[in-house]
Amino acid sequence: MNPLRMAIVGVGKIARDQHIPALRANPSFELVACASRNAMVENVANFTSLDDMLLRRPDIEAVAICSPPQVHYQAARLVLERGRHVLLEKPPCATTAQLDHLSRLAQDCGRTLFQTWHSQHAAAVEPAARWLQSRVLRTVRVTWKEDVRQWHPGQTWIWQAGGFGVFDPGINAISILTRILPHPLYVTAASLFVPSNCGAPIAADVTFEADGGARVEAAFDFRHTGVQTWDIDVETDGGALRLSAGGSALAIQGDPVVLEPTDGEYASLYRRFAELIQAQASEVDSRPFQLVADAFLLARRITVEPFEG
Ligand code: NAP
Repeated sequence: MNPLRMAIVGVGKIARDQHIPALRANPSFELVACASRNAMVENVANFTSLDDMLLRRPDIEAVAICSPPQVHYQAARLVLERGRHVLLEKPPCATTAQLDHLSRLAQDCGRTLFQTWHSQHAAAVEPAARWLQSRVLRTVRVTWKEDVRQWHPGQTWIWQAGGFGVFDPGINAISILTRILPHPLYVTAASLFVPSNCGAPIAADVTFEADGGARVEAAFDFRHTGVQTWDIDVETDGGALRLSAGGSALAIQGDPVVLEPTDGEYASLYRRFAELIQAQASEVDSRPFQLVADAFLLARRITVEPFEG
């Protein structure tokens, strides 16, 4: 089969770090174009607008949307309406209704919408889900603490309404929770710490309950300058599980588990995208997004000192 001609919209950190290398390594795809207002990619056709790219390159069959979440809906909608498949970066949209619309639009247009959660493709996530399947949960603790200046330098969108703030990484943890825990979750309380000059939180504490009664406590913090921590600890009737390093390492009762070697989260995402297109199917999992939206709905907001990037 000929490779699918693919384009990227929004050439920034994640497009360069992950999408371009993953696409170029996957024989199912050929990266032929990019649309970005200020950036260009070597050896492909470059456009400054998505609309222009889609009009002038009718051969493009699929588009990866790598811009900030505030503009995902408009971009994904345009791509689907123009009859192309969509791979959508997380967080999927600025509002839950937008994702619902996209899901229906993909169905109506007969095109694939792959709404991705890259952390669900981390090496230890499936083994953790399998281990937890037959166990009774007691408590779950999420510790997701990183230095925003190191990981999101100059990203002003993250601090604006719809930019998610600390939930930009935090939603990755929640996407792992919804994948590995054997019961559905709902939010019971949340505190958001919002800098006085920002529209999105710099830290958040969220409490969830799992059907079946287990309590899940999550602490998200962008102000963390020590060892960067992306851990999930689960206590069960059959012992303790720790997922660390953002879902790439696993320990049971403190003993590291040897995992199958993998070629990375984004290589796995693009394999899945090729499968979905081949099967004329879409994949949308709105649960992590709903939980973040619910945390915003229930939250007590605490104003903290201004953030100076
Ligand atoms: P980024 O470095 O800011 O890049 C996004 C690019 O989108 C910008 O460089 C910009 O390029 C374009 N863009 C289009 N409309 C924009 C707007 N209204 N405001 C700002 N930029 C706009 O961000 P990123 O880190 O790559 O993140 C992009 C998406 O990927 C987000 O949804 C994020 O959550 C997700 N993601 C990021 C990471 C990560 O490690 N950074 C990991 C996984 C997923 P032009 O100015 O050239 O148009």
